[in-house]
Amino acid sequence: MAKIATGIDDRIERTGIMLVLSSPSGAGKSTIARYLQTNVDNLEVSVSMTTRQRRGSEIDGTHYHFVSAREFERDRESDALLEWAEVHGNFYGTPRDPVEKAMAEGRDMLFDIDWQGGKQLMEKARAYVVSIFILPPSMEELMARLHRRAEDSEEVIERRLANAAEEIRHWREYDYVIVNDDLERASRRAEAILRAERLRVDRRALGLGGFEEKLIGA
Ligand code: ADP
Ligand code: 5GP
Repeated sequence: MAKIATGIDDRIERTGIMLVLSSPSGAGKSTIARYLQTNVDNLEVSVSMTTRQRRGSEIDGTHYHFVSAREFERDRESDALLEWAEVHGNFYGTPRDPVEKAMAEGRDMLFDIDWQGGKQLMEKARAYVVSIFILPPSMEELMARLHRRAEDSEEVIERRLANAAEEIRHWREYDYVIVNDDLERASRRAEAILRAERLRVDRRALGLGGFEEKLIGA
């Protein structure tokens, strides 16, 4: 699908968006994130740091920065992480520098993080955050998706399913919620949320002030 052509409206300066996607493991947030990356311009994905083992299909530096527990602790202690959490027995965190740079330059960033990370970002940077919770259509389907993905051992899948209910309980803390039944529909809904949020007056106040001046004079 083609990206929407850019025009005057897209050139008006605005503040950046931190688009947070959370869901229980296997509900589809990475798949929806990939759709957004392909179909929406000006959207960077935050590459988290993790102590979890790399999956066969993952590339270090692209999907995650895979680090040792010691390296993770060092970055956490030096305040290099904007948020961090322990999820399914591993540590995950968001490197601070790329986010601050993107926000300062009015670029949007996507975060595939759990509810604990979402909460921290909403507390620290509420004005920038747009949060979406992705729900699976059923627990049976969630289990089927985790197996179909075929990237984790049975033990890891069991642990993720056991943690799913705890993650799901937090959907009310988010700005938007999408049930990912049909992937195309769910992806388009996430895209619609991002495109609408980009047009909010509070994100565009500065740029539109200048535009108004040009339109009708000060
Ligand atoms: P998460 O990032 O939330 O852990 P993934 O995006 O890796 O989940 O999705 C888990 C699996 O489910 C993948 O194999 C993906 O292709 C599949 N999947 C995602 N959304 C749907 C959907 N709506 N219908 C069927 N399969 C889906
Ligand atoms: P996975 O191991 O399947 O890649 O991710 C497991 C969980 O960790 C998912 O819920 C994912 O969203 C979350 N996660 C990934 N990166 C981060 C991060 O930087 N911070 C937090 N809080 N959670 C993360």
